[in-house]
Amino acid sequence: MNEQTVSALIHRIKSNITQPLRLMEVCGTHTTAIGRCGIRSLLTPELELVSGPGCPVCVTSQYDLDQMIMLSRQPGVTIATFGDMLRVPGSETTLELEKAAGADVRAVYSPFEAVKMAQQEQDRQFVFLGVGFETTAPAIAMSVELARQYGLDNYSVFSCVKTMPAALHALLGGGKSSLHGLILPGHVSAVIGRKAQDFVASHYHLPAAVTGFELTDILTAVLALVEMATKDEAAVVNCYPSVVREEGNPQARALIEKVFAPSDANWRGLGLIEQSGLSLRRELTQFDARLRFPVTPQDTPENSACRCANVLLGEITPPDCALFGSKCNPLSPEGPCMVSSEGACAAYFRYERKK
Ligand code: SF4
Repeated sequence: MNEQTVSALIHRIKSNITQPLRLMEVCGTHTTAIGRCGIRSLLTPELELVSGPGCPVCVTSQYDLDQMIMLSRQPGVTIATFGDMLRVPGSETTLELEKAAGADVRAVYSPFEAVKMAQQEQDRQFVFLGVGFETTAPAIAMSVELARQYGLDNYSVFSCVKTMPAALHALLGGGKSSLHGLILPGHVSAVIGRKAQDFVASHYHLPAAVTGFELTDILTAVLALVEMATKDEAAVVNCYPSVVREEGNPQARALIEKVFAPSDANWRGLGLIEQSGLSLRRELTQFDARLRFPVTPQDTPENSACRCANVLLGEITPPDCALFGSKCNPLSPEGPCMVSSEGACAAYFRYERKK
């Protein structure tokens, strides 16, 4: 990394700030990168960076978690999931505790591992917990395509896949946002394209910058946002042109559309957002775990002491939560934002906690 570039970017950011500004990094990977690189400490306190609803584990609703936990108790069912989901608290328990109590819950790195297990153990039903955004959706869609090609009737997906533009509309709608700009996720944008997010500027008159995950990527985006915000300009700029194209990745989008259809989805923090999720298409119901294994847990209110919902909306930072670092820590997490490797509370705990 070129140190001169970094210090020049920091100097330009600081010298362009003429008023307090609040920028949101929408994506959990950016939240982690900002903590790891110590970006907040490099900038001025007048420039606030807050987290947003871009950690897929964190925005999974408690009701969906309780459904996953109930599913893990079904006889003959194996749950395959990304490791981060194991320790996320549902209303009473976690998948990890269910596993300790005898449920067959397996951590996998990709849905393809789950398909392979389903091929090898045809006497069990394998349910992959599909948690993610547009970035993860193509791999999940491909796993369904493979299961269909292999003629598997013991593989299905419990889809909690969500779409980012719908969340941005929910976040910015109502005109109450105190934000001056958005740092948009590079990897989601690689799939959906820069253009698909133009509405942030055209509809909400808010500057936005798509960028990658290195220090200079993030500083470049911050500089672009500061320059636009101080001039009261709004555009969605692409600071990650090596990866993100105007139209995104048409093959990935076609695969998503082949397998999924938009549906309403429940988000932690944002509530029910119309057409913000992806469900399996009607012709693929045999791969839809929500239909194959319907479970209806009690609708229990979320733990009111955990303020993940406020963290995900950028209303507070993790240290503002009374449980942060005391009752809630990575060894004993109270909420998903402390469990997930992309969660804001975990990132603050790891990189920015005052000892
Ligand atoms: Fe929830 Fe823990 Fe974060 Fe507080 S610190 S908001 S309890 S995850």
